[in-house]
Amino acid sequence: MSPLVFSTVCKCGQRFTAHGIALSNNSVPTKASTQFVMGLAKHFQDHHHQEFLECAMAGNEYIGLRVMMNFLSQDPHYATLIETVRHRIHAATRAREVSDKTIVDKVDNLRTTVGLEDDQASAVVSILKEMRDILQETGPFGPQPTTAA
Ligand SMILES: [Zn+2]
Repeated sequence: MSPLVFSTVCKCGQRFTAHGIALSNNSVPTKASTQFVMGLAKHFQDHHHQEFLECAMAGNEYIGLRVMMNFLSQDPHYATLIETVRHRIHAATRAREVSDKTIVDKVDNLRTTVGLEDDQASAVVSILKEMRDILQETGPFGPQPTTAA
């Protein structure tokens, strides 16, 4: 039996093959997986240079965030800057978005499967929207305009 070979395809169509991305028992990247990702990075840097630069800037932003999180400042804008950068990174790396329509559609399905009444469905929609906003840090749980001068 031959080992499985997986394809990884860049958005530009360039195809890379490898025998799977090996991870340690603790899901930590291995030397092989690191080399594989470094190969992807080289392609990305060579063929998608502008996007690569944007990634590098994002990496620097993350490093800056981690550094700033190790300090306390008397400057009232310091915490706001940390939160703004942290939120931007959180939003940029979010895997999924949950729309109002998705929530409403899911609750509509509950109306028929478990027989929710209109007022119950409305309450469930409200709770799910609030939970979505908490988890995605949007709406009232997202960054708020500062009033500091
Ligand atoms: Zn490419």
